[in-house]
Amino acid sequence: PCTDFDMAYFHSYAHVGIHEEMIKDRVRTDTYRAAIMEHQSFIEGKVVMDVGCGTGILSIFCAQAGAKRVYAVDASDIALQANEVVKANNLAEKIIVLHGRVEDVEIDEEVDVIISEWMGYMLLYESMLGSVITARDRWLKHGGLILPSNATLYMAPITHPDRYNDSIEFWRNVYGIDMSAMLQLAKQCAFEEPCVETITGENVLTWPHVHVDCYTIQHDELESVSTRYKFQSMMRAPLHGFAFWFDVEFNGPTNSPTNNHIPSLLTGASNNNHIDGIQKKKRANPNEALVLSTAPEDPPTHWQQTLIYFYDPIEVEQDQVIEGSLTLSQSKENRRFMNIHLEYSSGGRSYVKESVMR
Ligand code: SAH
Repeated sequence: PCTDFDMAYFHSYAHVGIHEEMIKDRVRTDTYRAAIMEHQSFIEGKVVMDVGCGTGILSIFCAQAGAKRVYAVDASDIALQANEVVKANNLAEKIIVLHGRVEDVEIDEEVDVIISEWMGYMLLYESMLGSVITARDRWLKHGGLILPSNATLYMAPITHPDRYNDSIEFWRNVYGIDMSAMLQLAKQCAFEEPCVETITGENVLTWPHVHVDCYTIQHDELESVSTRYKFQSMMRAPLHGFAFWFDVEFNGPTNSPTNNHIPSLLTGASNNNHIDGIQKKKRANPNEALVLSTAPEDPPTHWQQTLIYFYDPIEVEQDQVIEGSLTLSQSKENRRFMNIHLEYSSGGRSYVKESVMR
């Protein structure tokens, strides 16, 4: 059912600013266009569905790649604009704009290709992947293509003294006045919720990853996603929290991991942790797929990185183990919100941090 929260969510996409931000994100938009062109042989003469078409940009790229028909679906009023854009580009014959939720609209054929830009902060925020699953299960032909095909969420412990000093230590001496009494409030306000900001590779102590396969993932797997992790710090440093980012790959249906393994959403990061320094690009797939990356060492995107800071830093030695678990779950109050349950232990002490991304 479409809740009030969904209404508010779709309403937020009726504004021009959010589309402007996404479209001006060249890393995002150029990578999608390159992926569409790279898969032209799957798209030419075929039927495509664009799940959450926004202004219609990806639908138009698909039409340019020779799609026979594109269903451009969006529940937000931005669909009305998409329809005008399509008409103004003389594509109304090919691109059919449907103003409604993919859960509710009807089309009377199957599709060869599903394309969608569904990724939110920390990959899963906004819970739009569920709508892609719905579209896949309703209309995608057997052997059809999904772009992107798979996604990986990365997590890394970080040290970020500048940020900590700027927001917290700052209060110790303000114009010569001891304002330490502000410290608790400052920590609470600065670090209660996840922060979307840019970090550099220098902040990262080490990292592993977790993985989503768009061909096989199921709705119930998205309600709550858990993983265990184990890192070994690359240096002696104060540990200030964890950073999260993701990448998505654009693979054809045949190279998809579907055929080989893992029907489950997130697979043990703990199995793949690498403890011997920075490994630049961790790839789910060894053959070079086109990748849209939001990693700190790659060109910036509008997703930046998501940071979860501790209220107090933990001093770690080189090679000290940091381990624990992460659970991301849809909030009961509003399934667009994400509850983040983070457990971590190091140096014989254990901690829990709960936060909500809203
Ligand atoms: N494809 C566009 C817009 C991506 S933003 C682009 O790449 O620029 C995601 C869009 O998906 C938003 O416009 C939002 O309204 C839409 N959306 C999210 N969930 C949806 C659903 N269940 N049904 C239809 N549209 C949805």
